[in-house]
Amino acid sequence: MNEKTYFTHNLLTWYDPNDRPMPWKGETDPYLIWLSEIILQQTRVEQGLSYFIKFKKNYPTVFELAQAPEDQLMKDWEGLGYYSRARNLHTAAKYIVDELNGIFPNTHEDILKLKGVGTYTAAAIASFAYDLPYAVVDGNVYRVLSRFFGIDTPTDSNEGKKLIAKLAQEVLDEKNPGRFNQAIMDFGATVCKPKGAICKDCQLQDECVAFRDDRVGELPIKIKKIKKKKRFFHYLMIRRGTGYFIRKRVEKDIWKNLYEFPLLETETQMDSKKLLKQEGFSKFFSNQFYGIQKVSDSYVQQLTHRSIHAQFIEIEVENSFDANKMDWMCVEESELRKFAFPKIIDSYLNHKGSTLF
Ligand code: SF4
Repeated sequence: MNEKTYFTHNLLTWYDPNDRPMPWKGETDPYLIWLSEIILQQTRVEQGLSYFIKFKKNYPTVFELAQAPEDQLMKDWEGLGYYSRARNLHTAAKYIVDELNGIFPNTHEDILKLKGVGTYTAAAIASFAYDLPYAVVDGNVYRVLSRFFGIDTPTDSNEGKKLIAKLAQEVLDEKNPGRFNQAIMDFGATVCKPKGAICKDCQLQDECVAFRDDRVGELPIKIKKIKKKKRFFHYLMIRRGTGYFIRKRVEKDIWKNLYEFPLLETETQMDSKKLLKQEGFSKFFSNQFYGIQKVSDSYVQQLTHRSIHAQFIEIEVENSFDANKMDWMCVEESELRKFAFPKIIDSYLNHKGSTLF
């Protein structure tokens, strides 16, 4: 048995008793497989699970998803992050209904045409739904194959990506591609983990190059570690009576179509008194009395390429500014929860919890 055959055989043997039951496993409806794959992109299984169940219930077929009001969809997606996934899901659902008569595409090439579907997701759907022989390649697969075969080429280089994609295709069990793809991802998530790989109980240990050469912690190799840009967000929670001013984010930026309080972004942290004098904020209460009620600590949310540092300044005003002119709406405290906010605002509102709601 050569090393590739050994890998495939032992991986599948490991998988037989270790197949974790999940609501989407064994699913053959390509629509539901697609839904689960989009939800699980950049999301931990434990977190994605309840969202998959909710979406399956609220949007059982592509028709309900295509017809869903965007605000409702964003609200259902709230807390899952990477909101472009929800927008792409919506666009693709409309495309399937309008252009394909509601019939989900059944070739790898056509699945790839759906907005938000890349090669990984297309391979997953094609193999799970239609048993087509396409190997999935994600972070788990990069790690498992780099370690087992002792690959030194950086996995974030074009050469490394091509090499691993080719290798993944070579070790794929073509008779049962869906099961193999599920096995390699589960193996990467539970045994050959990024930190703390469980080598001592690993069924692939005898032929694993990284284990033999004591290089498990070193592989896979990456040339660039992502350098995150810091962004400082200052939210002004203007309270008038029992209402707060919010608006929908429409700019081409993170969190498009989610709601927010008046926001001022700065290059560095800034004192709240200075902030309130900035044009971006002072326009909200020019010529009228206002009182600062509270300035929060800094809240941090990590995104892939940025870390967001947010501070919330609560002020009370007596009169309204011309909100309509500025696209703001005053929403009653009790109604705020009906709107989808970015996670960092949600965290603040949850902390305020009992006092605000
Ligand atoms: S022996 Fe360790 S590094 Fe090698 S495949 Fe198994 S878990 Fe991964």
